[in-house]
Amino acid sequence: NRLNGMYVCSDGCRIAQPRAEFKVKKALITGITGQDGSYLARLLLDMGYEVTGTVRASSQAKMTRLRKLGVADAVRLVDVDLSEINSINRAIRGTAFDEVYNLAAQSFVGSSWDQPIYVADVNGLGVVRLLDALRTYSPQTRFYQASTSEMFGRVRAVPQNEETPFHPRSPYGAAKVYGHYITVNYRESFGLHASSGILFNHESPVRGAEMVTRKITLALARFAHGDHVPVELGDLDARRDWGFAGDYVEGMWRMLQQDVAEDYVLATGITTPIRDFVRFAAEALGLDLTWSGTAEAEHAVDRRSGKVAVKVNPRFYRPAEVDLLLGDATKARTRLGWQPKVTVRELAEMMATSDYDDWRA
Ligand code: NDP
Repeated sequence: NRLNGMYVCSDGCRIAQPRAEFKVKKALITGITGQDGSYLARLLLDMGYEVTGTVRASSQAKMTRLRKLGVADAVRLVDVDLSEINSINRAIRGTAFDEVYNLAAQSFVGSSWDQPIYVADVNGLGVVRLLDALRTYSPQTRFYQASTSEMFGRVRAVPQNEETPFHPRSPYGAAKVYGHYITVNYRESFGLHASSGILFNHESPVRGAEMVTRKITLALARFAHGDHVPVELGDLDARRDWGFAGDYVEGMWRMLQQDVAEDYVLATGITTPIRDFVRFAAEALGLDLTWSGTAEAEHAVDRRSGKVAVKVNPRFYRPAEVDLLLGDATKARTRLGWQPKVTVRELAEMMATSDYDDWRA
């Protein structure tokens, strides 16, 4: 497979020309239409993989992200719904995949309180459906499970690493804990090469519009174009460890290149309040915000237009907020040679300018 114009051999060496025994690897990405699915598809295609992605037959395939990253026509699509076992079995039986990345999920923590049973079915049971299909039809395939820092919830230690106990604070986090442990279980019980990546928040210009970072950059980009509708946010002092999705999908790939499957935390190790993310995005767009009011009445006015650009709305507070999520990615750094390259300020700038340009287009 290719990385940065070089071919990467199975033992990790880099060569300019493929060896005679070079074989194109086949990967399946569930949730390819999502943020991470799109970035991972682009990375694997760049490395010479043949990439298949899953879409839900029930919904119109949302190809916007794959199109924005320029890979929509390069991937093969198959119909799979993680709540439907036959579709999973068909996909796994149909092709001998070298690697399967399970990125599909109901990924918005906020709405997991509205549909907790469906979230448990997709984010939890969906994982065991996939693992069991692999055990039955393709036990040599390497498997990646998209676990999450939301599993830590009420944290027992700061920063969090692979040994930190879980205490999820949402139906989303609880379902992901099941997905995590069943992955470990299939590895230990059946010898599958199954790894779980415990990923802290990662964002990009194709992040879901309902997620707080993208909600901010979309609204401020619109505001900068003269549409002065304030963006309403919950707890501005809630802090997150935010990285760039493009960096994180490389970490997923590195996990599956190891001889022995293990679990890894991917994080930046830097925590930033939502208030600062707003400031970074505003500055990138030439807005000059000044904050006033306190707690639930707090708001920010743009000095140039004199209009309110941001205001707090308690409706957006979570029923149970997670504690300080801050990741320790020492294991990934030392064992995988992985580290994030994009800072949170660069990330906010990248997202805000992309939304500004797309609005103009
Ligand atoms: P997105 O919400 O952008 O993408 C989710 C994908 O899952 C979409 O392609 C969606 O398809 C698909 N999907 C949803 N429900 C089903 C279902 N029932 N059957 C099949 N596919 C389904 O998420 P991200 O790309 O941001 O995240 C990828 C994974 O990583 C998720 O599992 C998420 O929980 C996890 N994660 C993400 C983090 C982050 O910060 N981004 C942090 C830690 C973990 P459709 O287009 O049809 O809706």
